[in-house]
Amino acid sequence: MKQYFRILAYGKPYLGLVGINVLFSIVSIIFGIFSLALLKPFLDLLFEQQELVTSAPELAFNKDAIVGNFNLFISDIIREKGKSQALVTVSVIIVISFFLKNITLYLSKFFLAPVRFGVIHDIRNKLYNKVLRLPVSYFSEKRKGDVISRMTTDVVEMEWTIMGSIEMILRDPVSIIAFMVVLFSMSAKLTLFAIILFPVSGALIGFLGKSLRRTSGKGQRKLGEILSIVEETLGGLRVLKAFNAEETADKRFQQNNRSLYKTLVRLLRKRDLASPMSEFLGVTVMAFVMWYGGSMVLSGEGGLDAATFITFVLLLSQLLAPIKSLANGYSQIQKGTASAERILEIIDAEESIKDTPDAKSLKEFTTGIELKDVSFAYEDKKVLKNINLTIPKGKTIALVGQSGSGKSTLADLVARFYDIKEGQILLDGISSKEYKLHDYRQQMGIVSQQSILFNDTILSNIALGVENPDKERVIEAAKIANAHDFIMDTENGYETNIGDGGGKLSGGQKQRISIARAIFKNPPILILDEATSALDTESEKLVQDALYKLMQNRTTLVIAHRLSTIQHADEIIVMHEGQIVERGTHTELVAKKGTYNKLYELQAFD
Ligand code: ADP
Ligand code: MG
Repeated sequence: MKQYFRILAYGKPYLGLVGINVLFSIVSIIFGIFSLALLKPFLDLLFEQQELVTSAPELAFNKDAIVGNFNLFISDIIREKGKSQALVTVSVIIVISFFLKNITLYLSKFFLAPVRFGVIHDIRNKLYNKVLRLPVSYFSEKRKGDVISRMTTDVVEMEWTIMGSIEMILRDPVSIIAFMVVLFSMSAKLTLFAIILFPVSGALIGFLGKSLRRTSGKGQRKLGEILSIVEETLGGLRVLKAFNAEETADKRFQQNNRSLYKTLVRLLRKRDLASPMSEFLGVTVMAFVMWYGGSMVLSGEGGLDAATFITFVLLLSQLLAPIKSLANGYSQIQKGTASAERILEIIDAEESIKDTPDAKSLKEFTTGIELKDVSFAYEDKKVLKNINLTIPKGKTIALVGQSGSGKSTLADLVARFYDIKEGQILLDGISSKEYKLHDYRQQMGIVSQQSILFNDTILSNIALGVENPDKERVIEAAKIANAHDFIMDTENGYETNIGDGGGKLSGGQKQRISIARAIFKNPPILILDEATSALDTESEKLVQDALYKLMQNRTTLVIAHRLSTIQHADEIIVMHEGQIVERGTHTELVAKKGTYNKLYELQAFD
C-alpha cells in the first residue's frame, strides 16, 4: 500500500479539483438518499397511512425536523387539493431530486478527469526525465524493453487501475457513511444486524487483492520481456534473417507470449471474482435483513412499519452498490500497485552521477586533464589498473592497444559516463566530480565508432541539443566535416530526414555527420573513440581528413585502431589488459622495438 500512497501523493497539485469533486459527490449522495427517502411518504400516501399534521416542528437540520416539515407540506396539499395531487407532487419531487443527483454526479466526475490524467501526465514526464538523468550503467544492467514497458504499459495500467478507482475511493466511503447514518436513523437494530456480516466479506476481498497483486506483477514483467524481445528483434532484423534465425526467434517469442497469455487469463479470472463475490455476499446480507426485518414488521416488534421497512430495504440495496464498487476498486488498486512498484523503481533509482550541492561551474578549460592512479572495474573484474596520464591543453594523446584492453572505458571515464572509485580525474587541477556535470560535458565533443543519429533532419542531428540553430554555422560545420556535398545531394538537403538511426545513410556519411556535430558544438576537448575503424578506405580518407581539421587547436584523446592515423600524436599510450605498458612518441616507440613496434609492423602490410 506504500506505493499506492506514493502515487496518490502525485495528486497534490490537484487538491483543489479533488476538493470540488468531493463537494459535488457529497451533494449528489445527499440528493440520492433524499430521493429514495421520499419513497416512504409516497408509500404512506398509497397505503393511506399518512396522518395529517397541522404544525411543523422547529426548523433544524435533523431527521425529525426534516420529516416533520415535509409531512406538513404534504398534509397541506392533501387538505387543499386532494390525495392524487399530493401523489403527483411527491413524484415530481422525486424526479427533480434524481435529476439534481445526476447533475452533481456528472459535475463531480467532470472535475476529477484532469486529476486522473494530470497525475499520469506528471508521472510520465518524471519518468522520461529520470531516464535522461540515470547513468549509462543503469541501462547496461536493465533490459531496454523492460524500461520501455515500465514507461508505457505500466503507466497505462496504473492509469486504468489506481487512477481509475480514485473516484470510488473519494466517493464510496462518504456514500457508505451517509447511507449508514440514514439506515441507523430508520432502524438501528436492523442496521446492526446487517453490518455483522461485513468483516467476513472484508477478509475475503483482502485475500483476493493480495493474490491479484502478485499475478499482476508477474504479468507486467512478462510484458516487459516481450517488449524486450520485440525491441531486440527490430534492431537485429538483418542478422536474424542472415543467420536464418527467424524460426528460433519466433519460437522464443511464442513461448513468452504463451506464458503472458496464461498469466493474463489467471489475472482476469481473479479480478472478475471480486465483483460477483461481493455481490453475492451483499445479497446474502439482504436476504438475512429481509427475513429478520420482515418478521419484525409481522410481529409489530421494534415499531417497524411496512413502508419504513420497504424504504429501508431499498436504501440498503443502494448501499450495496458502493460497497461492491469499493471492493472492486480495492482489487483494482492491488492490481495496479504491482505496476506502481515497477514505475517507482525507476523513479527511485539512484542518479549516481549528478551535481554535488556545491558543484563548481566551469567557464573555460585552461591547463589540461590529468588521470591520477585511476583504477576501474565494471563489476568485479578490474578493467583499468593504476592509470596515470596527462593530456595538456592543445595536445593530442593517442591510446592504442588490443581490443578489450580498456581504451573505451578510459574514454568513458574522462567523459564521466561512469564515476571512478579509485584514483582521480582532474580537469585544470580540480576533480571532475566537483564540476557541474553540464559545464563539464560542455567542454567535450565525442565521436565514437558507432555514430549515434536520431530519426530527425540532418540539421537537427548536427545541431543536437540546440534549439533554433544558426543554419550558416551548421553548414560551416558540415563543410569542415566533408559532409556538405553529400548532404546537398539528398532530397531535401539539410532538412532531409535520415530515418531510424540514420538508416538512410552510409556508414561513412553517418560518421561525417557525427563529426560535423562535434565541430558544431566546438568543444575545447575532443574524444575520438575509433571514429574511423568502421569505414572503408575511401570514406576513411574523407573522415580522417575531417577529423584532422576537427583536432586543430584542440585537446584530443584519440583512440585509434589504425596506427597510421596517430603517428603525429604528442604522446602515444600503449595499453595492455588495463595497464599502460609503453608510452612515448611514434619515433621513440618504434625505436624501442616493444609492443607498439610489433603492432606497427603488423599493420605495415595493411
Ligand atoms: P577497448 O575499447 O580497449 O576495446 P573496452 O574498454 O571496451 O576495451 O573494454 C575493456 C573491458 O571491459 C573488456 O574486457 C570488456 O569486456 C569490459 N567491458 C566493457 N564494457 C563493459 C560493461 N558495460 N560492463 C561490463 N564489462 C564491460
Ligand atoms: Mg573500444
